[in-house]
Amino acid sequence: MKKYILTIDQGTTSTRASLIDKEGNIFYKSQQEVKCFFPHDGWVEQDAIDVWLSVLNVINDLLAKTNLIYSNIDSIGLTNQRETTVVWDKKTGMPVYNALVWQSRQSAYICDKIADKVNFVREKTGLIINPYFSASKIRFILDHITNGQKRAEKGELMFGTIDSWLMYKLSNSKIFKTDITNASRTMLFNINTLKWDDELLELFNIPKCMLPEVCPSSHFFGNASLLKSNLKICAVAGDQQAALFGQNCIKEGDVKSTYGTGCFVLMNIGEKPIYDKGGLITTIAWQIDNNVTYAIEGSVFVGGASVQWLRDQMRMITKASDSEKYAINCEDNLGVYVVPAFVGLGAPYWDDDCRGAVFGLTRATTKEHFIRATLNSIALQTKDVIKEMERISNKKIESLRVDGGASENSYLMQYQSDILEAKVFLPKNLETTSLGAAYLAGLSSGYWKSIDEISSVHKILKIYEPKMSKEEIQIIDYKWKKAIEATRLFK
Ligand code: ADP
Repeated sequence: MKKYILTIDQGTTSTRASLIDKEGNIFYKSQQEVKCFFPHDGWVEQDAIDVWLSVLNVINDLLAKTNLIYSNIDSIGLTNQRETTVVWDKKTGMPVYNALVWQSRQSAYICDKIADKVNFVREKTGLIINPYFSASKIRFILDHITNGQKRAEKGELMFGTIDSWLMYKLSNSKIFKTDITNASRTMLFNINTLKWDDELLELFNIPKCMLPEVCPSSHFFGNASLLKSNLKICAVAGDQQAALFGQNCIKEGDVKSTYGTGCFVLMNIGEKPIYDKGGLITTIAWQIDNNVTYAIEGSVFVGGASVQWLRDQMRMITKASDSEKYAINCEDNLGVYVVPAFVGLGAPYWDDDCRGAVFGLTRATTKEHFIRATLNSIALQTKDVIKEMERISNKKIESLRVDGGASENSYLMQYQSDILEAKVFLPKNLETTSLGAAYLAGLSSGYWKSIDEISSVHKILKIYEPKMSKEEIQIIDYKWKKAIEATRLFK
């Protein structure tokens, strides 16, 4: 009987379930949108019950459509949107507040109060102080429900990132665990001692009894007893870390960039964390057995979203893929630079207050130049992060693995390769997040025997080679730097 790994990829905008076979092919995928609420400016929330039901729906749909039975499934690999925070009642299993989504900034005031603790927090967690991470979100929830602190101290409340919440539900309340990659995004987990950190818990006044047990990423977490036949949950990892593994970035120095709404660049830095005072964060990439691998990470807030902006706000294109057609319809950008700082700038600048700008317009500028310059900005922002990675690791990055919606744009990927002077590898299977979760689960269950076996099934569809002259790159770098500086001055 042919067996598959069932992956659940619970993302911010949708939940996907996929069946992945031994050759790393997706046999079938089922997807459902998940709603976000925006109760106030900068607040982003989800109904945790909705999120859970979307998981049940995609699993049921997948089994119904494929006519497969549970015994066709080897094990489950779970991957999820990171940092999103759920607090629920231990007795009823019901959330006590909406899930606070990673993008939500409602707990910014809590972070502002501890702004002087930057080094203390960075040395323990590898993170910068930001409402993006879970700790201040938990604090916010405890402060905004009746007797929150007291109930948490009495052990009546449980906290989890989405992975813990889903495992709790899938196991009929039996599993209360998280994996080390998700834990490393909470700002409560010490990435040196690999334990919840008492001093951080004290800083946020969060009782330890509400935290889940932390396990390796590739690990038997328990049975999904709610589903018939007790499927084994054999891996859990945050989505970007799963994508790093799914891209086969298993050696120190390997880098991947995901071009979705935002861009997430991660570099495998091996077995020791590096703490840098620049704009990147240090995080745990995965743990297999006792071996922990670390990564440095930089996120660009607006990547593919700038193409949505061209489509929906500027009304220059009707669908995202049209951007390529227009971009190659002109010979160059005619000196136009777009800085899509619509919500400020992420790594390596972390400038919340600046806003987008366009430079170099003339009477000769056309819509094509504008579109081309917008695509270029996605690659240029990614280059800013990769340059930081090169500085920190003291190594030139010779190749980049790419995925995400906008990686299907050949113009963009060629430009990325050109300005980085590096090869860009596009994998055959772009669902690298699910693939990573499947690989981690299959390693733990024995579906795949070794990382080498997994590497051998990983397939590359296309390689972009750099072609641009050094002189041209120098001019672009110079102009882009000026554009960023000017954008940051305009406040
Ligand atoms: P997410 O997981 O963040 O929802 P996806 O990986 O699904 O993102 O990618 C969607 C993003 O990629 C959108 O912002 C869209 O504008 C952009 N995108 C999709 N296809 C293309 C394309 N061919 N060229 C440029 N951008 C694209």
